[in-house]
Amino acid sequence: MKRLISLVIPCYNEQEALPYFLPEVSKVAADMADRADFEFLFVDDGSSDGTLQVLRSFAQQDERVKYLSFSRNFGKEAAMYAGFCNAKGDYVAVMDADLQDPPALLPQMFELLEGGDYDSVATRRVTRSGEPKIRSFFARMFYKIINRISDADIVDGARDFRLMRRSMVDAIVAMSERNRFSKGIFGWVGFRTYWLPYENVERVAGQTKWSFWKLFRYSIDGFVNFSQTPLNIASWIGVLFSVLSVLVVLFIVIRKLCFGGSSVDGWASLVCLITFIGGVQMVCLGIIGQYLSKTYLEVKGRPHYILRETNASDADLVR
Ligand code: UDP
Ligand code: MG
Repeated sequence: MKRLISLVIPCYNEQEALPYFLPEVSKVAADMADRADFEFLFVDDGSSDGTLQVLRSFAQQDERVKYLSFSRNFGKEAAMYAGFCNAKGDYVAVMDADLQDPPALLPQMFELLEGGDYDSVATRRVTRSGEPKIRSFFARMFYKIINRISDADIVDGARDFRLMRRSMVDAIVAMSERNRFSKGIFGWVGFRTYWLPYENVERVAGQTKWSFWKLFRYSIDGFVNFSQTPLNIASWIGVLFSVLSVLVVLFIVIRKLCFGGSSVDGWASLVCLITFIGGVQMVCLGIIGQYLSKTYLEVKGRPHYILRETNASDADLVR
């Protein structure tokens, strides 16, 4: 039986890369034509350049092309979610528009799923060449820490590029949280995943959309969404300071009883203690604030994205 493969492609200002992308995946699709049909689901994440025009012309040339265009930039996570909600395929893959996720891996990923032993084939970069050193360093730190403190298995170097069985995609769509962190969600839903390593590829054209700051905020999302450990740390700091305060009180009382005298000096140590404890309290409040703000956004239940234009007649217009 021939399978339908949906490729979900989030695009944000990708007018330079897209003209390379479609011919490349079409070639792979032609090679696999005996085994699978394809659907190309482009999600224009509120681009301000000519991305939408490029997608419109793609749709005219090729009837496999579907596009969803957002009313503004909602972020790659929202774009992937929109793609998953609207993908019709038996198998669904997410792919960057810049060809950093080599389409040439698709046949191999497809065969692994057809084998029946796996529900998902994910990719992992074995090198980070072509990336700034400082960015690699922070990325490594992030993976080390999050794997310690989180229950979702988050693999270092994992790309979002993966091919999944329908059942896994349905599980991901069912996780309708607003603060999405896909690397965590993929791990959290479970299923049997095969990891395919490959060498890092540089983007064909255009610029990366991720500034260091944007990545940093994304990493905080990762922590807050997939671990309660920072909250626990805040509680334990509270316990530690309470115990310390009892010890200090005992020390002062005993000193007074045994040695008498007044204890007026110690101004310097008092100031140090007050500022230190004040700082720790603010940090703990900040941690609670992070969780609270995520909860607040979640409770409001706003849509994940808003569509402005699409050529898919039965698209979920708002989700
Ligand atoms: N992207 C998106 N919305 C955003 C930022 C990025 O849809 O707000 C898309 C982008 O068009 C690309 C993919 O996400 O297809 C990965 O982005 P990029 O290549 O800039 O990231 P990098 O590969 O440098 O980590
Ligand atoms: Mg890229």
